[in-house]
Amino acid sequence: MKRSPTLILLFAAVCAYAAEAPQPVAVDPGGPGKAPSDAVVLFDGGDLSEWIHNDGKPAAWAVENGEIVCKTGTGNIHTKRKFSSAQIHIEFATPNQKNAKGQARGNSGVYIQGRYEIQVLDSYRNPTYAAGSAGAVYGQSPPAVNASRPPEQWQSYDMIFHAPKCYGAHFLAPGRLTILHNGVVIQDNTELKGPTPGGLDGDVCEPGPILLQDHIHPDVEETALRFRNIWVRPLD
Ligand code: MG
Repeated sequence: MKRSPTLILLFAAVCAYAAEAPQPVAVDPGGPGKAPSDAVVLFDGGDLSEWIHNDGKPAAWAVENGEIVCKTGTGNIHTKRKFSSAQIHIEFATPNQKNAKGQARGNSGVYIQGRYEIQVLDSYRNPTYAAGSAGAVYGQSPPAVNASRPPEQWQSYDMIFHAPKCYGAHFLAPGRLTILHNGVVIQDNTELKGPTPGGLDGDVCEPGPILLQDHIHPDVEETALRFRNIWVRPLD
C-alpha cells in the first residue's frame, strides 16, 4: 500500500510532539482522609481558619472530633479563597432525622463558586422532587441515580467543575459539572443553566468560594450536618 507524503509528515510531527511533551508532575494521591499533595486543603480536621460567614464574621460552626458541624441558625459559611475550574472533594454525614420528610431531612448544600448548589440531603429512602434530592444541581438537574447511604454514614462528593467560559467579562458558554457520589457518577458533564437560589451574588465570570449551607426548615429545630476532609485542586 502506498502512503501519501502528507500522511507520513503528519505522523512524524505527532511523534516529535509526543517525544517532547513534558513529563507529568508527580503528585502523591493521598488516600482516605488525606488530600493529594497538590491540593488546597480547606478542612483536614483542624480548625475553621479557611472559612468565614457570608457577612465576613468568623465561622461559628463547630469543630468536633475533627469534623465540621453545622450550627443551625448561624448562617452559611464559605471559604476565604476563591476558585475557578477545579476538582473538589468533600465528605458529609447527614443526621438521623427519621421523623422529618423530604426537604426537612438532612438538608444542606455545597455551593460551587458560591453560586451553584449541589444538594446535600438525606435521600436514603426519602423521596422528594428529583431536582431537590442529594447530588442534584438544585432546581436544575437531578442526579442520574440515587447513590445515597443511610444517615450518619460518611458519604463523598467528588466533583470536576469547569467554570463558565468568558472573554474578559463577556459570558461565552455555561459552566459544566461532573459529580461522583460515593464513587458513582451522578452528574456527567452537566451544563449549569445559571446560579441556583440562596447563593452569593457576583459575576459568573469571576472566581468564587466553596459555600456550605445552613438550611433552616420549619419542621426541624436543627440540622447538624457534619463535614470533613474538604480539598480543592484548581484546574486552571
Ligand atoms: Mg440544600
